[in-house]
Amino acid sequence: MSYSDTQLFIDGTWRAARAGGTIPVIDPATEEQIGTVAHAKPEDLEDALAATAKGFKVWSATSAYDRSRMMRRAADILRERVETIAVLMTREQGKPIAQSKAEIMGAADVIDWFAEEGRRTYGQIIPARAPGVQQMAIRHPVGPVAAFTPWNFPVNQVVRKLSAALAAGCSIIVKAPEETPASPAELIRAFADAGVPAGVIGLVYGVPAEISEYLIKHPVIRKISFTGSTPVGKLLASMAGQHMKRATMELGGHAPVVIAEDADWEKAAMQMAATKIRNAGQVCVSPTRFLVDQKISDGFLEAFADGLKKVKVGNGMDEGVEMGPLANERRIPAMEELIGDAVEKGAKLVTGGRRIGNKGWFYEPTVLADVPTSARIMNEEPFGPVAIVNRMASLDDMIAEANRLNFGLAAYAYARSHANVERLGREMESGMLTINHVGLALPETPFGGIKDSGYGTEGGSEAIMAYLDTRFVTAAH
Ligand code: NAD
Repeated sequence: MSYSDTQLFIDGTWRAARAGGTIPVIDPATEEQIGTVAHAKPEDLEDALAATAKGFKVWSATSAYDRSRMMRRAADILRERVETIAVLMTREQGKPIAQSKAEIMGAADVIDWFAEEGRRTYGQIIPARAPGVQQMAIRHPVGPVAAFTPWNFPVNQVVRKLSAALAAGCSIIVKAPEETPASPAELIRAFADAGVPAGVIGLVYGVPAEISEYLIKHPVIRKISFTGSTPVGKLLASMAGQHMKRATMELGGHAPVVIAEDADWEKAAMQMAATKIRNAGQVCVSPTRFLVDQKISDGFLEAFADGLKKVKVGNGMDEGVEMGPLANERRIPAMEELIGDAVEKGAKLVTGGRRIGNKGWFYEPTVLADVPTSARIMNEEPFGPVAIVNRMASLDDMIAEANRLNFGLAAYAYARSHANVERLGREMESGMLTINHVGLALPETPFGGIKDSGYGTEGGSEAIMAYLDTRFVTAAH
């Protein structure tokens, strides 16, 4: 499939913006314009809001069984189209084609899981105090949802919100990323082709701040879900608060990696090098601050840096490429500033640290060692292929440093003794912790942060609760 221009999807119809505006889409590997995406303005948002209000009435009255069947059909359609959608994703986002395919197959898995979960949104009968009284807690879909998703996982970020909302019986307007619009549009198309009625799903693109401000305040919208940076998340959460809208916030991270004295550090070096370069490090759960016991740190640093030096960086469409370009131009100065600041403040540049070539936004996998706490990169999410490796004197120090920041999304740890593993599980302040393996982000397990990394979860059985209200009904006979 060649790259196609992306339209809005409103009331079951693919269409241009009423005013005809578009935004260019750039291939990050070549810097060439490969297409455009329709630019929604208030009149288009009004259409989408009217459609979602109608869609909510239809979808909330559709049985959970029928919703589930349509969702599973959408998952099958997505699997059938994986080869063509993966090409769109790699061209607009840059990631290696194998990672695009894995993301799409993973999305189908997410849809299947929520399709089943939607059939289990049980209520409760609560024993009454008086005879002849029946007390019931019943679940209702919260209402039309507005979802805002970023460019790093163009399909995965949408599918978690979309599947949970649809499974619960909500309609949804998705504001998908303007940088990577075509692959999420194909996700929506799979649902439309599976028979999801007009109005149940809307898809818009435009200026993110204009759209969020318009939708969050609007009385039709009852629930917000956002994935992106912590500052934007705080802004949207406060807007949601002002208008008393339910909100789920998946925000930034700065994942610590504790490597204790008794760890299998060779396994850690291998697993973490592969995990660090995934999606060129533009992952909210990317391992960032490696806190390594000083007795094993030399061996770990050498093995980890060697792993990163061998990574084949290039156009994600090319055979054998393991890491693509950064997804947009602004990530290059962001990397340069953070790395430059760290080196100026005394950090050692072990490998990498430069842009590759001058066409396409490629950047070397980078390792910094002995980075002082005052460096910006120790405190700000780098969101790129850069890791910090710092020597630490004890497990106490590692846990204290891991918990120092206000982020609390993902954390990694390697340790052998039961006592260390147990302690890490108890004391690490993060929404997700993976010890001695890399095991995050399955549909059936919780996915979300604490502290400044947000609230709510987008995985596991709790995820669907974010789209449901609990209502109490008591009746005397
Ligand atoms: P940004 O903060 O400008 O935007 C982050 C995301 O939020 C983008 O998708 C953007 O379209 C959206 N956004 C921005 N302002 C918005 C608003 N007022 N209303 C609605 N949506 C809005 O940063 P960026 O340059 O696009 O990305 C870099 C930073 O964003 C990274 O450092 C990282 O912290 C964060 N980010 C996080 C994730 C994640 O998975 N949690 C994904 C992408 C970006």
